[in-house]
Amino acid sequence: MSEKYGLFINNDFVEPRSGKWFESLDPFSGEPWALIPQANAEDVDAAVRAADAAMRGPWGSMSASDRGMLLHRLGALIDANAQRLTEVESRDNGKLQSEVAGQVRYVAKYFYYYGGLADKIQSAVIPMDKPKVFNYTRYEPIGVVGTITPWNSSLLLTAWKLAPALAAGNTVVAKPSEFTSVSLLELARLFVEAGFPPGVFNVITGFGQEAGEPLVTHPLVPRIAFTGGDEGGRKVNELGAKHFKRVSLELGGKSPNIVFDDADLAKAANGVITGIFSAGGQTCMAGSRLLLQESIHDEFVERLLTITRNAKVGDPSKPGIQVGPVATRPQFEKVMRYINIAKEEGARCIAGGRAPQGPEYGCGQIIEPTIFVDVDNSMRIAQEEVFGPVLAVMKFKDEEDALRIGNDIRFGLAAGVWTQSLKRAMLMSEKLRAGTVWINNYRSTSYTTPFGGFKDSGIGREGGIDAVKEYLETKSVWISTDLDMPDPFIRKY
Ligand code: NAD
Repeated sequence: MSEKYGLFINNDFVEPRSGKWFESLDPFSGEPWALIPQANAEDVDAAVRAADAAMRGPWGSMSASDRGMLLHRLGALIDANAQRLTEVESRDNGKLQSEVAGQVRYVAKYFYYYGGLADKIQSAVIPMDKPKVFNYTRYEPIGVVGTITPWNSSLLLTAWKLAPALAAGNTVVAKPSEFTSVSLLELARLFVEAGFPPGVFNVITGFGQEAGEPLVTHPLVPRIAFTGGDEGGRKVNELGAKHFKRVSLELGGKSPNIVFDDADLAKAANGVITGIFSAGGQTCMAGSRLLLQESIHDEFVERLLTITRNAKVGDPSKPGIQVGPVATRPQFEKVMRYINIAKEEGARCIAGGRAPQGPEYGCGQIIEPTIFVDVDNSMRIAQEEVFGPVLAVMKFKDEEDALRIGNDIRFGLAAGVWTQSLKRAMLMSEKLRAGTVWINNYRSTSYTTPFGGFKDSGIGREGGIDAVKEYLETKSVWISTDLDMPDPFIRKY
């Protein structure tokens, strides 16, 4: 029967003040499996107040080195509990257990990396243009950070924010997606075990308007880190702007994966498949627009068909399965709608396009890897984020044409280029308007490297050393050793 969870506030699991819970559904079986507290504004307020108080408690006065040690301890506990975290995350979002297992091990590394950085963020003594005055900078935590994340990779996308925010000395109130709450509640237990003081990490579960908006607008939350779709991102940005919040946004994408005729086509075909069909296409960085040089179009499409025809779809907890269910029923319906739209627009479906039924396919929420050819870049299937296993294939003539089509999109999260020419690779990586460009690989990410979007794909960067600074305020301190003010009304330069 379903496990019943509480909200995590002040190192304790508590019942929601709303008195309400909702069910989390297993995307493969369609069955409810966990009961999630439905937080309201009062619950959010309690969590934020706990986080705010923790800034003034032992956490606020802890040395950066000790904070780093705690983050390390948390990383080790994530490693030790990887199996449990994998099971609950995969049960909530339907991703293959084999993929989630790798992701969870990688989450631990975020805490090691940012734990290591905690005491290495050095400020500066500034050389002065005037005598008898001394100036230096201090980096200070911003305060309570609200993180809001989507359903596709709850733990990983929260870790991208949580690890640098804590390394910088902030406290956090995390709101996971209403579809995937359990993994963060399980992570919360590990904070207690690691020895974090109460209030440093809090989890508020529930819905966007009911729990997300009160977090964004709360006067004690100066910083919001959001990952999700356009609509939610726009609303969060508008609400944040009204209250002068520091807001970062990681939003959607419709990334071009561009294959030139001089590429290693076998490797490129595998890279294209990884780009769109791993995680069932439910990643912001999915290479959902495939641009093929005219001369290799037919041959390359044939390679893709050979690979997709053999794809094993089914229960994501079973080894050997390559494509699992779409994470939520509304998302499943959205993807199926896009498949119909693409057909109506005149694109030709040459693979997939269906949701197989039968006991081996669970509740019927799996969509076969789907490929559309004869796509024009003006079609909705080429311009809008589907967030599912659907690839739109287009042709291009030369580099200029590839850049024109590749950049003709409102998103700018990522792009892939497959070529053996260094000159071409350099040209494309310079001219593509995207936050990440992969040459002869796709979907590589690392905690050491910045990730984020150009254009409508977001504001700000996560990952790498600089991510810590996204969670710090810079203060400039002036010390005069001999203040000389002959006329206090007139400022001397
Ligand atoms: P979503 O925008 O519906 O929800 C994301 C989160 O925002 C959820 O926790 C939701 O409850 C919350 N939310 C929604 N409306 C809100 C509001 N008005 N105020 C406060 N919070 C609100 O996104 P989703 O459907 O869960 O996830 C899919 C989207 O996420 C896709 O567009 C995908 O591209 C994007 N995404 C981006 C990245 C990235 O790094 N750029 C990574 C993963 C997913």
